[in-house]
Amino acid sequence: MQYQIDDQIKNFLLALSRVLDIRIEKVLDLYFYVTPETVRIVEIVERGSKIVGLRLAVRSRKKPDVWYYVAVGEYGAKCTCEGNTVGGKICRHIIIGVITWNVLSLIKHGEGIDLSKLTWLYTREKDV
Ligand SMILES: [Zn+2]
Repeated sequence: MQYQIDDQIKNFLLALSRVLDIRIEKVLDLYFYVTPETVRIVEIVERGSKIVGLRLAVRSRKKPDVWYYVAVGEYGAKCTCEGNTVGGKICRHIIIGVITWNVLSLIKHGEGIDLSKLTWLYTREKDV
């Protein structure tokens, strides 16, 4: 079971790298940033037996006393950092949110999220 989850996560991270058109090293860097000290789950939004969205707080890498609040879901994503509120771009915190969402879905329901349904991931500019 453990191996299966590892494989599913690996495939998900590769797919995310392709969808966002950013290097896999960058995606792995964001994945390994997720720890209990840097990411806090605020709310899990579930519909039936699916997680359809997530609210979380992500600690700033440059300013460790600052936390950004992130919401990710099927219809969009928001973050309180400058890159997102001012530039409207997909920031690293939103990508961390998507990665965390996928891991939680795997753990709770045994199934990852379907990236093809997150159309906003494909169309918006990135700032990571
Ligand atoms: Zn952000």
